Amino acid sequence: MAETNADVLVVGGGPAGLSAALFARKNGLETICFDTDGTWMHKAHLFNYLGVDSIDGSAFMTAARSQVDSFGVERVEAEVTDVSEADDGFAVEADGEEYTASYVVLATGANRDLADSLGCAFDDEIVDVDVTMETSVENAYATGAMVRAEEWQAIISAGDGAAAALNILSKEKGEHYHDFDVPADADAVFGGMAEE
Ligand SMILES: Cc1cc2nc3c(=O)[nH]c(=O)nc-3n(C[C@H](O)[C@H](O)[C@H](O)COP(=O)(O)OP(=O)(O)OC[C@H]3O[C@@H](n4cnc5c(N)ncnc54)[C@H](O)[C@@H]3O)c2cc1C
Repeated sequence: MAETNADVLVVGGGPAGLSAALFARKNGLETICFDTDGTWMHKAHLFNYLGVDSIDGSAFMTAARSQVDSFGVERVEAEVTDVSEADDGFAVEADGEEYTASYVVLATGANRDLADSLGCAFDDEIVDVDVTMETSVENAYATGAMVRAEEWQAIISAGDGAAAALNILSKEKGEHYHDFDVPADADAVFGGMAEE
């Protein structure tokens, strides 16, 4: 079985997973995001995502995927069939290949099977996480709909993914990490296109 190594493996590419992947990769971590495109966003139209007046859910996903692609996230369109603890982190199986990383972020929507098989503690039906979205398994995070009973909203999922990635970055850098940019950064990041 072929093996690929990264820093962070994100399972699920809805708002939670893509947000985690964006924050991690934008700040230098090699990040792979697996997705089967079953996101609820394809059924949604957003009027409640702060800063966005109105957008079709599928259009939102197209923009979000383009954004993470531009920062270099590797997106793999495949189902993750297994997540397990490995020597220095985690091993993920997808499409007959094995991927390893120090951190795993689960973002599988309402499906909590992988968190269960990994051995994450549950609180009733919900994956139990702390405020950084870390589960009872060290360096394994759970984000978005899978950590909530009913309060499912795109912006909450995106926030959960960001919180997980920032905690990973804080661990990696050894100090509390902020992903703060200022207006002068826009030219460097977007080559002057930011104001168009
Ligand atoms: C009809 C409807 C309307 C809605 N309207 C709104 C709205 O107006 N505003 C709002 O804020 N929210 C709305 N929502 C809710 C919103 O869509 C969800 O809160 C949001 O999509 C949750 O994001 P998530 O990333 O947690 O999970 P999801 O978006 O469900 O993403 C999970 C992803 O993980 C993938 N996945 C799962 N298991 C695996 C695996 N083993 N391997 C690889 N990939 C996997 C799935 O295919 C999916 O793409 C609506 C939902 C519905 C159903």
